[in-house]
Amino acid sequence: MNVCPHCGADLKRGAISCRACGADARAGWTEDGWQAGPDAPAGYGEDDFDYDDFIERELGGGKPSRATRSRRKLRFFWGVMLAVFLLPLLIGFLLLLAR
Ligand SMILES: [Zn+2]
Repeated sequence: MNVCPHCGADLKRGAISCRACGADARAGWTEDGWQAGPDAPAGYGEDDFDYDDFIERELGGGKPSRATRSRRKLRFFWGVMLAVFLLPLLIGFLLLLAR
């Protein structure tokens, strides 16, 4: 367990910012020289940094994994496709009946 050099609060392994005092890697507090991985998205660690999202992505243990999330995204995609293609079909059919 690392501790924050600024306030001494416990830091989760791999954390890039301190939840207690707000110090972060950009301020250069990490002794072990934390660096963004090659798969880190652009803007990683910027001001809108989401700690919970970071933990979910980096640890994934017990939380939705990358695969689960992409499966969820796929299901959402097909739901949208169904709505986009079946709804006009249904409406056209109803209009045909109403004639
Ligand atoms: Zn701190």
